[in-house]
Amino acid sequence: MFQQADRLKGLTSAIFTQVDTMRKQAIAQGQDVITLSLGSPDLAPAPHIVAAMKQALDDDLSYGYTLSKGTPDFLNAVTGWYARKFNVKLDPATEVHSLMGSQDGLAHIGLCLVNPGDVVLVPDPGYPIFFAGPLVAGAEIVTMPLKPENGYLPDLEAISPEVLKRTKIMILNYPNNPLAATAPRDFFVKVVELAKKYSFLVIHDFAYSELVFDGYRPDSFLSIPGAKDVAIEFHSLSKTYSMAGCRVAFVVGNAEVIALLGRLKSNFDYGIFHAIQQGAIAALNGPDDCIAETALRYQRRRDILVDGFARFGWHVERPKASMYLWAPVPTKQKSFDFVADLLKNTGVAVVPGIGFGECGEGYIRIALVQSEARLAEVAAHAEKWLAK
Ligand SMILES: *Cc1c(COP(=O)(O)O)cnc(C)c1O
Repeated sequence: MFQQADRLKGLTSAIFTQVDTMRKQAIAQGQDVITLSLGSPDLAPAPHIVAAMKQALDDDLSYGYTLSKGTPDFLNAVTGWYARKFNVKLDPATEVHSLMGSQDGLAHIGLCLVNPGDVVLVPDPGYPIFFAGPLVAGAEIVTMPLKPENGYLPDLEAISPEVLKRTKIMILNYPNNPLAATAPRDFFVKVVELAKKYSFLVIHDFAYSELVFDGYRPDSFLSIPGAKDVAIEFHSLSKTYSMAGCRVAFVVGNAEVIALLGRLKSNFDYGIFHAIQQGAIAALNGPDDCIAETALRYQRRRDILVDGFARFGWHVERPKASMYLWAPVPTKQKSFDFVADLLKNTGVAVVPGIGFGECGEGYIRIALVQSEARLAEVAAHAEKWLAK
């Protein structure tokens, strides 16, 4: 009876849905499934964060609309955090906006800046909302292949001037999901130059700024001189503070763009639940030990799998950041077929690289979202099955 609107036509999550259906079938058949497919943290927020939310629950005044910008205390906590972590100064009145998860911002920003036919440059492989948001806004998506030989950075010189002239937005994400790759500062400098030359907005998704290993620290895109003229940066509490279900995040940077997004959001939503904002404020104001502890946990998990796989000759890069391994398919199969076989033979559920774009073929993404003991089992199962 009902026909979908044209704008939904390009939206497809077919591969992720298929993998999840297989995973659920395996569970229903009684298989001991180890789920490393969804990038949702298995950890709890630190006690002081939970305490702040609980306290807010007991306050009668916590239950009204908060309005979409964020409470003054939330906005100040964000600017304090950015100054402390990245030495970037922000004006809480004009350069910060709260989000109901970065998804919210990434889904809606295209609607604020893109007219049908405008180009949005998107990394391939890339996080699915990078494609879906602009597509709904009517954008023409042009992919930027991220290849190992280029350090998983887009080849800026390979983008034609004709495309750059029509470009409204370039989306970047370092540390990267699904690649777990990082970007050097001089790459960001080149992007700022290019964005100024062609007057497009750079969106930097910085969700993994704190899940960093072995002493590595990534630069905020906004720490590049002139970046605020051309860029906004998204950060989320989902991974840093294990608050994915709370739906709390923020965008910072160019005041003009933040005002546009604010205008759209003030029409679309009425803000994040006050108790969750209180939790976010407690998180951002610190203490920061919980961040280091979380990062160390993911680092140990990373090592269990990387070392466990290497023992039988499956060589996977040891990433400096994120909560993923990006592993080459160790058989001659397509990524989807390998993932199906891996699940059937070992009970381990992961995501085929092809789900993140054509350039993801040949790889799988493994999310480090189970305990060390479970991951040791994963390595052992994989060895038993693959080292035959
Ligand atoms: C998990 C993740 C996010 C966080 O999204 P939220 O909506 O804030 O939970 C953003 N970007 C990337 C690349 C991610 O992997």
